[in-house]
Amino acid sequence: GLIIEGVTKKFGTLTAVEDVNLEFTAGEMICFLGPSGCGKTTLLRMIAGLEEPTDGAIRFDGRDLTNVPVHKRDIGMVFQSFALFPHLSVGENITYSMRIRGHSRSEREARAKELLDMMRLPGVEDRSISQLSGGQRQRVAIARALALNPQIFLLDEPMSALDANLREAMQIELRKLQQELGITTVVVTHDQTEAMTMADEIVVMGRARVLQSGSPMDIYKKPVDKFVAGFIGTSN
Ligand code: ATP
Repeated sequence: GLIIEGVTKKFGTLTAVEDVNLEFTAGEMICFLGPSGCGKTTLLRMIAGLEEPTDGAIRFDGRDLTNVPVHKRDIGMVFQSFALFPHLSVGENITYSMRIRGHSRSEREARAKELLDMMRLPGVEDRSISQLSGGQRQRVAIARALALNPQIFLLDEPMSALDANLREAMQIELRKLQQELGITTVVVTHDQTEAMTMADEIVVMGRARVLQSGSPMDIYKKPVDKFVAGFIGTSN
């Protein structure tokens, strides 16, 4: 599984993440939940290899990832704003990482088709990104992240660019996809309902630290303190 061992991240004098210890089973959907500025994104970026921990280690299936560069981590990531390449077609966006690694055109086209079918967006390979709706862009961003069959799938506030009535549908869709693929997934969110809907494990964070981790039911029924109770929406 995914192990985060004594991980601390400092930016100068600011401690963004402090001594985080977590252990997850492979194949789980994990949500980092907490208010703005508590360090969720920084933790996700360390798993991705986009930030280096000041202290501690991150392991996956027994492999120490700490000094493994981003492109060798076997990770797919979806960013908050999707970060699609506007000058590339949908198909080129999806298979960008495959092109970098030298996969042939025919392999890329077949994979793009397969992923677009999976994301229920068949036949849009040649469209430009600007022709897509927000929900469609998100599906393309997910397809792009999954192109190389990563072992770990990371999403930073995946629903925040979507309007409210699309959000719930996409949460259910993402959860279904994750379960079908059985891929270890970490989602960062500040939305309690989103975490409750999607997660096997919720990690509640506050000011650089983990306040509580457990199943949605555990946290809902037995919040460790008033902050967690208030944040989750139970009155304890
Ligand atoms: P949000 O939901 O607003 O994105 P977050 O919980 O994801 O919040 P982080 O983005 O991880 O929080 O930020 C945690 C703290 O670290 C914040 O105080 C932030 O200002 C600081 N921080 C993050 N990245 C950097 C950086 N590159 N340089 C300096 N400070 C940073």
